[in-house]
Order: sequence, then C-alpha cells, then structure tokens
Amino acid sequence: MIEVCALASGSNGNCYYIGNDTGAVLIDIGIYYKKLIERINEAGIDKNKIKAAIISHEHTDHVQGARTTSHKLGIPVYYTKKTYHKCYDKNKALNYKFFEAGTSFNIEDFKIYPFSKQHDAIDPCSFRIEIENKNIGVMTDIGTADEELIKEFSLCNTVFLEANYDDEMLKTGMYPYHLKQRVGSSDGHMSNIQTVNLIEKHASPDLNTIFLSHISAANNTHEIVKKEFAGFKGKYDIKLTSRNAVSELHTII
Ligand SMILES: [Zn+2]
Ligand SMILES: [Zn+2]
Repeated sequence: MIEVCALASGSNGNCYYIGNDTGAVLIDIGIYYKKLIERINEAGIDKNKIKAAIISHEHTDHVQGARTTSHKLGIPVYYTKKTYHKCYDKNKALNYKFFEAGTSFNIEDFKIYPFSKQHDAIDPCSFRIEIENKNIGVMTDIGTADEELIKEFSLCNTVFLEANYDDEMLKTGMYPYHLKQRVGSSDGHMSNIQTVNLIEKHASPDLNTIFLSHISAANNTHEIVKKEFAGFKGKYDIKLTSRNAVSELHTII
C-alpha cells in the first residue's frame, strides 16, 4: 500500500510525502522541522518511516527545513551538486548525497527518476517516483511543460502538479512588474490554463489522482482552481493542496 500527501504546498513552503508499509521519502523540505512534525502528526504518519529527502531546487520554500530535519530524523538529504552549492549554508544538510538529473537512483524500494525542468534556479529538477509498479510525480515550479516534463507526466498514476496562477489575477494583481514577468515567464510557474492543457493532452489513461499544487496566495484562489479544473470531474480525483494545512493522506492501491 502506498500513501502520499502534501505536508505543505505553496510559495512559503513545500514538502511532499510518499510512503509505503516500510519506508518513505520526502520531496523538498521547505518548512521548518517543528511545522513538519505538526503536519506529520496531523496526517497520522510515522516519522520513523522516512528514510531520506530529495531537494528539487535551492529556493527557500523548498529547502529551508532541510538541515534541521536531516539532523533530527537522522536522514540523508539528496541534492544535485550545483543546487547544494547554491543553497545558503543554513539550508545545507550536513548529511547529504548527490544525484544528477537524468540518472535514476534508489532509496530502499523507491526508484527516483529526477529530470531537469525550466525554472529560474541553478539546476532545478522534478521527479517521478516508481514504487510497487505505480508512478508518482512531483512536478511544481515549472515555467513551461517541455518535452521531458510531458514524457514523465504521461507515465504518472498520481501526480502533484503545479497550478500556480490565474492569468487575469496575475495581470491585474498587486505584484510589481518584475515579479509578474518572472512568474509568467517560461522559467517561472505554470498557470491554471497551462496545467489544464497539459492534462488534457498528455495524461496517461492510468492517471487517477491529481494534487493541484503550489497554488499562489496572491495570484490564484481555490475557487478559481476548482472552476478551471471542473471539466475533469468524474475522470480524475482532483485534490487541492494548501500552504496552511496538510492535504488528505491518499492511499494508492
Ligand atoms: Zn516554489
Ligand atoms: Zn522555485
């Protein structure tokens, strides 16, 4: 039995949990240890199952809890070499390992496929995780759905997929011009519409569950997201993640 959830998702902190009966991995540790433990307890997860964490890129909202969590849980944190060196020292776990985009590796029963993504970081990666013949994607902080993303997404049964902003809210909202440019660029984030298109065109027939992730607090709302993705009702189990609370702990059989 596989269980997954978003312990936190958004521009103030990201952490995704993927576990089975005997082990678990975290993708990103963008929340501090105290909050991580609160969320883990809320979800009813056993923290001792967590064997490692993997960091997608150096932005604070993906790595600010890495050092302490690694120390407290006694787990290694995986970074690419470039990402590790780009991180602030306080975000560098002392117990660290390196991986490379395009080279898969194993953590216990979990096979991790890291791949490069388009985002304004030094060496950003997304992940497909294969476990018990299921494929789980963690795909956020992406400016463009490039070939690599499409290929990996189209293999997923369950996916944490970015739906960052609503075009109109970004255009008319309070962000300064340079930030609007950044978010909307091909190295920024995916809009609701970009994500809808990706799902429409490239979802696997075996795709089941979509956790819409990294939903912006300033440029999107849960109401808009629900409306934009309403067309998938009945076809996929669509869940919304939040920065303020743990998502549902979802079981994949
Ligand atoms: Zn982020
Ligand atoms: Zn980022």
